[in-house]
Amino acid sequence: MKEAGSGAASFNRRDVLRATIVGGAAAAAVTVLPGTAGAHPRPLRQTPILPKPGRSVAIFGGGMAGLSAAHELSERGYAVTVYEPAFLGGKARSMDVPNTAAGGRKNLPGEHGFRFFPGCYQHVPDTMSRIPFPGNPHGVLTNLRPVESSVIGIKGSPAVAAPFGVSGISQLTPETIEKAIITAVGFIPQLPPLEMAFFVKMMMMWFTSSEERRFGQWEYLTWEKALEAEGKSQAYRDYLVNALTRITVAAKPHVSSARTIATIGEALVLAATGIVPEYKGGADRILNRPTNEAWIDPWVAYLRARGVQFIMGQRAVKLNVADGRISNVTMADASGARSTVHADYYVTSMPVDKAQPLITDEVMNADPHLAGIHKLYADWMVGIQYYLTRQSGLPEGHIACMGSPWAITGLRQAPMWANKFQDTYGDGTVVECLSIDVSDWDTPGILFGKPAKQCTKEEVHQEVWAQAKMWLNTGRSWLRDEDIHSWHLDPGLTWSGGATHNETPLLVNTVGSWDWRPNATTAIPNLFIGGDHVRTHIDLPTMEAANESGRAAANGIMNAAGDPGPRAGIFPLVQLPIFDAAKKIDADRFRAGQPHLMDG
Ligand SMILES: Cc1cc2nc3c(=O)[nH]c(=O)nc-3n(C[C@H](O)[C@H](O)[C@H](O)COP(=O)(O)OP(=O)(O)OC[C@H]3O[C@@H](n4cnc5c(N)ncnc54)[C@H](O)[C@@H]3O)c2cc1C
Repeated sequence: MKEAGSGAASFNRRDVLRATIVGGAAAAAVTVLPGTAGAHPRPLRQTPILPKPGRSVAIFGGGMAGLSAAHELSERGYAVTVYEPAFLGGKARSMDVPNTAAGGRKNLPGEHGFRFFPGCYQHVPDTMSRIPFPGNPHGVLTNLRPVESSVIGIKGSPAVAAPFGVSGISQLTPETIEKAIITAVGFIPQLPPLEMAFFVKMMMMWFTSSEERRFGQWEYLTWEKALEAEGKSQAYRDYLVNALTRITVAAKPHVSSARTIATIGEALVLAATGIVPEYKGGADRILNRPTNEAWIDPWVAYLRARGVQFIMGQRAVKLNVADGRISNVTMADASGARSTVHADYYVTSMPVDKAQPLITDEVMNADPHLAGIHKLYADWMVGIQYYLTRQSGLPEGHIACMGSPWAITGLRQAPMWANKFQDTYGDGTVVECLSIDVSDWDTPGILFGKPAKQCTKEEVHQEVWAQAKMWLNTGRSWLRDEDIHSWHLDPGLTWSGGATHNETPLLVNTVGSWDWRPNATTAIPNLFIGGDHVRTHIDLPTMEAANESGRAAANGIMNAAGDPGPRAGIFPLVQLPIFDAAKKIDADRFRAGQPHLMDG
């Protein structure tokens, strides 16, 4: 089995950069950088609003957060320039696998990791609906397709297709919510009924906990501790505590804050009922073509049409401070050559590991809370794609290999796509792509007995495939070695000096980390922060969090500019009024130092 694209010229990051460089002089007050001029793309629909003086914004990072900030600001007449060292779309992008096309088709589609859009997302769908897409009534949003089911692989048991949503609920009451929780975890084998009941009780305790207790108590407990995992059955610990969190939200139960996990758990359960009006998208949705085709490319085109300038190949290396403000930002290109950016407002929207070096002593002197960024940390979650010459036949929807050592999840990229895969991508022999995310890089695997971080590229591929087969081929042979045409691993992974490096790690939620996360608005009047490490309603590293942070940064800039115009929408998660009275009692108890009524 060969690595896709490996037979041809090697993947060259600079080539990709060159290919994606977009031209354009930098906006009004922003310094024009050398070597970035080019043709300005034709506007899509609207003509850009002429920016007012004093409204230039430099955004560092063209991922979900940076593009979201650019979107809101450009629609409000700000002169926005986005500086991106590598790829627009950041971790959310999809990518061509070079040299895999034949017969007029496109290259095989690769991705950093497959995308899912739970129904509780509100910011991302709102942005998508405002990006034009030819023939779509609701822009890019129309490219989302509902996912009805999931495939649950459990070692030793036949894989089951379980509905993703919870049907039959017409009213939200404490009883129906209990039912929804039981349905959501009901597939777990050998779970003692008493432990299931305990889990449901804990979730109901969460639903009725006050904000004070959520932030004052749950935040400082790990998910594992909150669920009192110790001493419970293997099934409870393996599946309910561990696999469910790792697989659904790529979080680590022994380090993640119980507040964060319960927050997303509540939102997922409510979305799964299908009757919460704010969560319009059903339980879950996926895109109907590769992410760049469906979303990122049309988005960038729209933003260019709004006058946003994209300067590629440039990264921020120093925030320079004078008189408590950012005076300018030092930039570097791939060769290390330096230049300087001046703007009225600055937004850092790079990932946390890349933001940390920018938060120097002089920046922290100007805003001491930003020191918390250094306490946040990132770990690995990486995708691999298998291109198959025969339909796997796996049921459509999400695939979860519950309890697999590398916490494997997957999605068949083809059945719900708009164009027939075989006719559109590759050499004509590939019929589908099984896209797999590996969320645990530290636990030894089943083939080589090593954690993924210690495996070679080839070993990673073999091990993932072996785990997928062991967890899914129980009773059926859905995955067959002979069907693999080739595979593609995230190009952010590199091997040198006997070690594996990951250029794009993902933030890990940790207990108490809410205190350390920055707000989008800082105490430095012209510095704003975007990214999935910023305080947002879903404080897990997700596209939704990154999008909300970009909106919050845009609103912060509008506040700083004294702009009377409408702010970007920020949508809180749904809190059911049926629990208001219980929460009020709990708030009083929390203030009096008493436990929750259901605690104990
Ligand atoms: C395998 C995988 C699967 C995932 N699946 C999902 C999913 O299904 N659903 C979901 O909601 N989320 C998912 N996520 C999470 C989601 O992709 C991220 O949380 C989100 O895309 C982060 O967006 P961001 O803008 O904060 O950061 P990024 O996407 O990391 O973008 C930041 C950008 O900043 C640039 N940059 C870096 N350094 C600098 C610098 N010094 N100066 C300027 N720019 C810089 C980077 O090149 C990058 O383009 C997944 C993540 C992974 C890793």
